[in-house]
Amino acid sequence: MTYDLAVIGGGPGGYVAALRAAQLGLKTALIEKYSTLGGTCLNVGCIPSKALLDSSELYYQASHTFSEHGIGVSELSVDLNQMIQRKNKVVEMTTKGIDFLMKKNKIDVIQGHASFADAHTLNVGDQKISAKHIIIATGSKPSNLPGITPDGERVITSTEALKLTERPEHLLVIGGGIIGLELGSVYARLGSKVTVLEYTTGLIPGMDESIGKELQKILKKQLGMQFLLGHQVKGATREGNQVTVNALDPKGEAISVTGDYCLVAVGRRPYTDGLGLEAAGLATDNRGRIPVNQQLQTSQAHIYAIGDVIVGPMLAHKAEEEGIFAVESLMGQKPHLDHRLIPSVVYTWPEGAGVGDTEQFLREQGREYKTGSFPFKALGRSRASGDVEGFVKVLADKATDEILGIHILGARAADLIAEAVVAMEYRASAEDIARMSHAHPTYSEAMREACLAATDNRALHI
Ligand code: FAD
Ligand code: NAD
Repeated sequence: MTYDLAVIGGGPGGYVAALRAAQLGLKTALIEKYSTLGGTCLNVGCIPSKALLDSSELYYQASHTFSEHGIGVSELSVDLNQMIQRKNKVVEMTTKGIDFLMKKNKIDVIQGHASFADAHTLNVGDQKISAKHIIIATGSKPSNLPGITPDGERVITSTEALKLTERPEHLLVIGGGIIGLELGSVYARLGSKVTVLEYTTGLIPGMDESIGKELQKILKKQLGMQFLLGHQVKGATREGNQVTVNALDPKGEAISVTGDYCLVAVGRRPYTDGLGLEAAGLATDNRGRIPVNQQLQTSQAHIYAIGDVIVGPMLAHKAEEEGIFAVESLMGQKPHLDHRLIPSVVYTWPEGAGVGDTEQFLREQGREYKTGSFPFKALGRSRASGDVEGFVKVLADKATDEILGIHILGARAADLIAEAVVAMEYRASAEDIARMSHAHPTYSEAMREACLAATDNRALHI
């Protein structure tokens, strides 16, 4: 078969690219090796992890805060099997929704593993698919550390952590990044002891350091999570149902910790296995990524690459934007995508979210900036719900007041960050947001107050 566009990979990058291509009238094929569409995000990533985060948070609230609200609950229990089944249903509904969208947009979905036969032809099983343009959206897989081989039972990756059949007694988490904190929170809320070993001196190193610092205190106090920072994990060994993780502490001395499960969450690697890139005249860089130019074209101008398989943060909404960008580019349009303004979120409770520059980045750059912060505890809305932890921090250019970054730790930060993205896309100043009406009582008032604080220290409610 011959197509205008063949997309390899049915994750959020690939299926969104296919949808945009169909909207623009291209005859489009979407090739996915698994039987369900949606990729990592819908099947073993964003959606199932959020389903378990929501279920575990409900249990945590019922067991810890309901009584304060005057609600009595007797014989509270956790049925992990039911929780996992509910998560599976959420995933099924979501992936089926993508099937519907493909049909509605007349996109040919071809199930099978694609590999390049040449720069315009793909082998999928015994079919040959030819296309004028190709988008590689093959995503990523969990990374391993030398000395650790996940066995999928006790030494696990995020994929298995989303379908455990029992609650761990003591979960060891290698990596205090986003997956480590999200999935660590799920099991800590359900009553597991959780110990996180992190190589750097702070949690979620990619985000503004104030978020990791404060979150560490909150998760320790709220859920009893233990954090071993500055610990470089060197290996893990399993004996029966016990796993021992060996690490070097900040002084370089060997330590070990033993638990009954170990989650390896040390990042993800781009996935190009069996793709036959060389047959298309393509190669990967030293980190396994497919190099692209600013238009997301590979070294073959008609082949684009997007999402986790290229440079940049491994986020579903980044993959989606790149999918749309690549299709509009190949159609000769002039799309806009500012990678600096792709927000990042950690779905702990409270949630953490940020967009733009971090304070540590501005310091390193020697940029002159000012800050405005506002704590959620000073908001009526937060006191009403009991979600008093966290803050909004605004970073703005010292001379022009243009917002350079906004970082939030607090209730609904994942949703609140959208206002920051809109403001920054339009190059707003802190005073612009400070002068806009924010409904009362809402968590969003913290955004306005932080912007007021950045504007000549004018915060009202503190
Ligand atoms: P993928 O989603 O990985 O999709 C690639 C697809 O290509 C896969 O379906 C794969 O089977 C297919 N494929 C690969 N090779 C071939 C081939 N040769 N032939 C045919 N098909 C092939 N991101 C967020 O933004 N928010 C979150 O809350 C979030 N939570 C996450 C939680 C977890 C536990 C994990 C693991 C990830 C999470 N992510 C989250 C990251 C997000 O899932 C990824 O950034 C996103 O899925 C990347 O999209 P993609 O389209 O590039 O690749
Ligand atoms: P990550 O990069 O966020 O965190 C990995 C952590 O492991 C880092 O903090 C790193 O310092 C640490 N580490 C590496 N080697 C170590 C060692 N030897 N010993 C101890 N610690 C070590 O990666 P992740 O948490 O595995 O997540 C993978 C990707 O999935 C991320 O890029 C993330 O963007 C994406 N994701 C996003 C979300 C979300 O958007 N909410 C949720 C889950 C995953």
